[in-house]
Amino acid sequence: MATWRLRRAAAAIAASSAVCHNHGAGARAPRSPNGGYATDDESVELFPTLAKNSHDRSLRGTVVYYDGQMNDSRLNVGLACTAAVVGAAILNYAEVVSLIKDESGERIIGARIRDTLSGKEFDAFAKVVVNAAGPFCDSVRKMANNDVVPMISPSSGVHIVLPDYYSPDGMGLIVPKTKDGRVVFMLPWLGRTVAGTTDSSTAITMLPEPHEDEIQFILDAICDYLNVQVRRSDVLSAWSGIRPLAMDPSAKNTESISRDHVVFEDYPGLITITGGKWTTYRSMAEDAVNAAIRSGNLKPANGCVTDHLHILGGYGWDPASFTVLAQNYKRMKRTYGGKIIPGAMDSAVSKHLSHAYGTLATQVASIAQNEGLGKRLAHGYPFLEAEVAYCARHEYCESAVDFIARRCRLAFLDTDAAGRALPRIIEILALERKWDKARQKLELQKGKDFLETFKSSKNAQFRDGKHNGQ
Ligand SMILES: Cc1cc2nc3c(=O)[nH]c(=O)nc-3n(C[C@H](O)[C@H](O)[C@H](O)COP(=O)(O)OP(=O)(O)OC[C@H]3O[C@@H](n4cnc5c(N)ncnc54)[C@H](O)[C@@H]3O)c2cc1C
Repeated sequence: MATWRLRRAAAAIAASSAVCHNHGAGARAPRSPNGGYATDDESVELFPTLAKNSHDRSLRGTVVYYDGQMNDSRLNVGLACTAAVVGAAILNYAEVVSLIKDESGERIIGARIRDTLSGKEFDAFAKVVVNAAGPFCDSVRKMANNDVVPMISPSSGVHIVLPDYYSPDGMGLIVPKTKDGRVVFMLPWLGRTVAGTTDSSTAITMLPEPHEDEIQFILDAICDYLNVQVRRSDVLSAWSGIRPLAMDPSAKNTESISRDHVVFEDYPGLITITGGKWTTYRSMAEDAVNAAIRSGNLKPANGCVTDHLHILGGYGWDPASFTVLAQNYKRMKRTYGGKIIPGAMDSAVSKHLSHAYGTLATQVASIAQNEGLGKRLAHGYPFLEAEVAYCARHEYCESAVDFIARRCRLAFLDTDAAGRALPRIIEILALERKWDKARQKLELQKGKDFLETFKSSKNAQFRDGKHNGQ
């Protein structure tokens, strides 16, 4: 289980601004270079697809504000790799199947772990166990005491990905209150547009799938505010995630569910940290580590070091780092005839590598240049073959699904493109991991099954109002 104790994300953070569509009367806020009120004309200039008139309403203006954006899979892997560099033992595909108690049964002293790749089980002992299992944290708490009061109220969030042209570069749209009162947003994300809505309650499953009516709700809601039709056939990918909204079991009002995090030791030696968000992950990690120090009466030599620890690849990175890649590296590409030919490390690729890997992007670029792995994995996307080899060697990438979902995000950006890239990704991973033909076949099937849970337009039950089967 991961304990997040690192605080700085120096790489892969890009500032973006957002337009808030304001149909209310409201006071006219002053416009400033840092944001503020924009008139209807200014708003349409900023966000050309915004409708001035839609249905019976007309746009009065918008409020512009600034927000941060990051690539969550890259930050997550960066955290794990940084933890490894500073001394943590990192295991993926390792599932806690039970907790180990001391002889008196009064304290948790370790966990039984199953390697879900080999099926082998082993014990790990610790002065304190931190349960950071997100939506699954109640099932881990139950391993200590089956009668615990649940902390988690699982809530699903559905997102869809659309082509880039729906939102201008660096500018998004958020509608705080749609017809049915829900929030809907539309933001530029990794070269495409991501749109989504807020919570609805759900059951906890490993692979949650978006329902067609949720996808349709997002499409309808954004169409209400745009001057272009957003069609079901434009949906490149759609997915659902489970937010672990948390209740504090010790709180008097157990109905109070919040987006704040909760740290709780309901069995001596077992600290549960849950709720919260990416935005607050640093303070979540610090609170969990401090609780573990108290629980185990630990005496750390340096106290909490997270304040001064950069994510791997963050030291020495600056926004212009990509130019060094573009200037100094070539993408050596293997043709179908087996010849290796040079290609330019263009701006799109070098910017992507620099944002995704920080200063370590030079290692990926070296693989692209020296090992003939410089081809793009999918047309129109900057992801390179070299990244597959790099992630297998340095980022614990153990499967094709790991790569398309948890290292490069292609599955989330464009499901069909990810499907087309799968055979080449498996070919590269097979060389790295010495997979036989049977394993390669299995990886392809698992990859296809995984992508089926993303309801892109190809997988859609309905296409522009018509049932696919009709
Ligand atoms: C759709 C959606 C949109 C979001 N948008 C934002 C946003 O815009 N801004 C923001 O700040 N936050 C956002 N969040 C919230 C943020 O992603 C969550 O805070 C985060 O997913 C929860 O992190 P976590 O580490 O607690 O749990 P998870 O990310 O769910 O991680 C839990 C891990 O525990 C593992 N696990 C479970 N059981 C076991 C076991 N028995 N043994 C070992 N491991 C186990 C799981 O495999 C998983 O890897 C969003 C979340 C969702 C779902």
